[in-house]
Amino acid sequence: MTQISTVDAVAEKLREDDVRYVRFEMSDIMGIPRSKTVPIGAFSSFAKKGVNMYGGTLGLDSGSYVVPDTGIAEEVGYMDAFLIPDLSTLTVLPWDRRSASLICTPHWGQNRVPLEQAPRNLLQVQLDKAHAMGFSVKSGHELEFYLYDGETKEPLFAGQHIFATARNHYTDFINDLMDTLTEMGFELTTHNAEYAPSQFEINFAPQDGMSGADSAFRFKAIVKEFAARNGLLATFMSKPQLGLAGCGYHLHMGLNDANSGENKFNDPDDPDGLSEMALQFTAGILAHTNALTALMAPTINCYHRFQKGSFAPSRATWGIEDRTALLRMKASRDKATHLEMRGGAGMANPYLFQAATLAAGLIGIEQKLTLADPKPGLAEDDATAPALPQTLGEALACLESDTDLCAVLGDPFVRLFTTVKRFELDRAQQHISDWEHNEYLELY
Ligand code: GLU
Ligand code: MG
Repeated sequence: MTQISTVDAVAEKLREDDVRYVRFEMSDIMGIPRSKTVPIGAFSSFAKKGVNMYGGTLGLDSGSYVVPDTGIAEEVGYMDAFLIPDLSTLTVLPWDRRSASLICTPHWGQNRVPLEQAPRNLLQVQLDKAHAMGFSVKSGHELEFYLYDGETKEPLFAGQHIFATARNHYTDFINDLMDTLTEMGFELTTHNAEYAPSQFEINFAPQDGMSGADSAFRFKAIVKEFAARNGLLATFMSKPQLGLAGCGYHLHMGLNDANSGENKFNDPDDPDGLSEMALQFTAGILAHTNALTALMAPTINCYHRFQKGSFAPSRATWGIEDRTALLRMKASRDKATHLEMRGGAGMANPYLFQAATLAAGLIGIEQKLTLADPKPGLAEDDATAPALPQTLGEALACLESDTDLCAVLGDPFVRLFTTVKRFELDRAQQHISDWEHNEYLELY
């Protein structure tokens, strides 16, 4: 991503590159990019004053319905917000070199006050808090997705041929996608077919600060858009089919000393190679797991994924290198030591998932929480460990009753998020499913 910092310098660069359209994009609470496209002639003016967009866009539900009582819609006369770009996120789209994209955050009114409910702002607050505590935050975002034929919505191949080279590169689309991501500045690390028909995982290197979540936000959008342009449907839907692997979103996170860069989770003198701070951070996340589940698993579909024996977690647990644990410590005994939060569902919003996980971990450090040793054996077999919330409704109630986490996420956000999600839940509740038809129609 290009590191230029003034609007005029960006405008000049865009003209040099013959870019004619710029997308001003922001994440809504679901992590869906919502944007307006601006022609190059209007770019400088909009980049300085912000692009106006209906402010309630942030709080549309998963079906893009306008939700009442969120605090950002009818309460403010459905007014516009202004999307102000972070110029450091400028990137040209390799599949359409006429177009570039900028990640923005929404602001209200003449004074351009940031919307504190905006996901990217929420993460910024937690990154700033970490910084004030003396840390820089490194994060890696690992996302699985299915690839279907765009017309038939069928997988490209049957069988769960994980890591089989012939499946990894079953379609040229994957190779072209990897080229595209690389051209856009992603430092790709690995790619492979996953454990389900036509499921894949492309990984990119961890990054500092906001860049990790920005990359994840963009990664999902690029994979989907590039697939659609190639006649395919890529989906991060958390559990498209029961009995087949879910789409996980594993969040890798570590803290470094903000000045020296030294890894704060590594302790060479500890038998497990983990510092006390690593344990406190882990304890913080475990203490707030129920509440943050609402953010790492934000739709009704995500709850089908938390199943034992699926490599997705089902209990609030931790373990060293234990793939069945919610929190898997990657105690590599070097500067790469970090925690892998495996609870995230593919549909999680990168900014909110990271903000909530980081917030919980930092609370753990502030409160010097202690961590009980994991039970011997697999974490998912530990029947004494609390099960993850079973439904979105349960997770939302847990979020609302977690005063510590609500305090750091802020009441306006909690109100927005829980109101939108309950609205969506009500809509889902009014749907009569094919299961009910199959079960009841004929016999009753
Ligand atoms: N698909 C699994 C999940 O939903 C993860 C598999 C893996 O460990 O890569 O979390
Ligand atoms: Mg995987």
